[in-house]
Amino acid sequence: MLDNLKGKKVLIRVDFNVPLDNESRITDDTRIQRALPTIKSVLEQGAAVILMSHLGRPLKKLNEDGSIDKAKFSLKHIVEHLTDVIGVDVDFAQDTVGEEAFDKAHSLEIGGVLLLENTRFNKGEKTGDVEFAAKLAKLADVFINDAFGAAHRAHASTTTVTNFFEAEDKSLGLLMADEINSAKKVLNSPQRPFTAILGGAKVSDKIQLIDKLLDFCDNLLIGGGMTYTFIKALNGKTGNSLVEKSHIDLAKELIAKAKDRNVDLLLPEDSLCADKFDAEAETAVHPTMQIPDGWMGLDIGPKAIAQYAKVIESSSTVLWNGPLGVFEFEKFSKGTFQTADAVATATANGAFTLIGGGDSVSAINKAGLADKVSFISTGGGAMLEYLEGKVLPGIKAVS
Ligand code: AMP
Repeated sequence: MLDNLKGKKVLIRVDFNVPLDNESRITDDTRIQRALPTIKSVLEQGAAVILMSHLGRPLKKLNEDGSIDKAKFSLKHIVEHLTDVIGVDVDFAQDTVGEEAFDKAHSLEIGGVLLLENTRFNKGEKTGDVEFAAKLAKLADVFINDAFGAAHRAHASTTTVTNFFEAEDKSLGLLMADEINSAKKVLNSPQRPFTAILGGAKVSDKIQLIDKLLDFCDNLLIGGGMTYTFIKALNGKTGNSLVEKSHIDLAKELIAKAKDRNVDLLLPEDSLCADKFDAEAETAVHPTMQIPDGWMGLDIGPKAIAQYAKVIESSSTVLWNGPLGVFEFEKFSKGTFQTADAVATATANGAFTLIGGGDSVSAINKAGLADKVSFISTGGGAMLEYLEGKVLPGIKAVS
């Protein structure tokens, strides 16, 4: 990150897209916490900080009269908490590039922090609009992008804005660097054995990642809804489980590729099944290859939990993305939480463990194991795309 910021105004794109409850209180401030090292480093260098972020999808969820729901999507809700955790009174501009933002940025003193209103209140944000980006750039001398969670989007505040700064006046932030280094530890010559755990609902969302991982992982553990498309590909009986019929052939190809590459592609030996998709459903354990009609697999079963834990705990590198069952329902959360335990044990044994975003992060947090794994990514989609080998526009723009 830039280290010559004395006397400068520094525009930092952060990812403050935090979950809020009905009273607009922050329910998980992880993303704010993870942005603090960059913010504090810039302040310690004797600079002023202007923060910008998106929050939710305000233009997709307009009020009935077509106006933006500012009460819901305003970043003003996080100002008080931000003030507490930075330790500096954070000022707030009720617009992103309007008169108020401009005046407040202009009069901001060294050591001061200004937060701009939600970038997505502006139509030009998502379209990468040049005029909007130019106005953002006018607010500061230097630009730092620390929003890994938004790095896969070529938006005005992540990408276009960089065009208005000279190479020596823009850089990635500390969180970005951490995210990239962690992903690289997995992608480039990982310590072996390297085990990837992939869960989640659909195989169709993860095909590219599976395909890429088969090039270099040693074990690939499959869980979640995507299991049953693979089971169908092996001519198993899936009952009412989630199967993506259009992807059965692809699952066959992935199984063949795993064999070809000597990758141990494991499917759960047994499944915890439900008689309906419901938190209070009746449950029964069945071999995953023989799920009777009327039953659907909603979690990996007890044998699979033990089978997977053994592999995970003897690995030196572990990548985990996606829950192994419908963990939102307590009855079907055991596979995911036991997997979280196994990943923590592997870490204690010396493995490098990367949790790749989204629901697996929330599972690790719920299990209270966040500080027992090596790295938790703040970017779900961004981390997936990075691991798939894609170039993320937000990173490319400043690199
Ligand atoms: P993803 O966003 O693809 O990581 O998927 C996460 C979702 O997958 C969660 O909401 C889980 O409830 C869901 N999921 C996990 N296992 C299953 C399953 N066996 N059947 C249906 N949905 C599942």
